[in-house]
Amino acid sequence: MTKHPEDQLSAYLDDELNNDERRRMEDHIEKCESCQALLEDLLVLQRDLVQTFNLIQEPADLEVRVLQSIAKEESPATVGKGWLFGFLMVSLTLGIFWFVTGSVLVKLVHGFSKLMIAMVYVASHFILSVPVLTALTVVLSLIILVTSIYSLRRLLQTTAS
Ligand SMILES: [Zn+2]
Repeated sequence: MTKHPEDQLSAYLDDELNNDERRRMEDHIEKCESCQALLEDLLVLQRDLVQTFNLIQEPADLEVRVLQSIAKEESPATVGKGWLFGFLMVSLTLGIFWFVTGSVLVKLVHGFSKLMIAMVYVASHFILSVPVLTALTVVLSLIILVTSIYSLRRLLQTTAS
């Protein structure tokens, strides 16, 4: 028992030795303080490694679980529904916006045309109620008409020549 089977200690810890080797190793460890100490160190090291590995493994596992839960939540069907819902919401919003602005615009145009009609009506009524203004309007209209005809004829003549 002079030779320490140090090279086989880690194999012993990993349970990689055959029955004969393990038995010899256990016999040796029982009697050898040096190998007991080494085995203790190796056990501590192994435990630390396992702890470190677990610490690394835990966030990795957490990440996987988070990703899995996201994947579950964003399954193709749900994504499709989400998109459809978003599209419907946008369409609805645009539809309401268009309807509201459209109706407002129609109301504005309607109101404006009503106002214009009223103004024209009032103006014509006012003009007709005042003989001088009526005569003036008729004269003005005739002047505009004559001028238009004259300029039109001039235009036609210049185009002809
Ligand atoms: Zn030994």
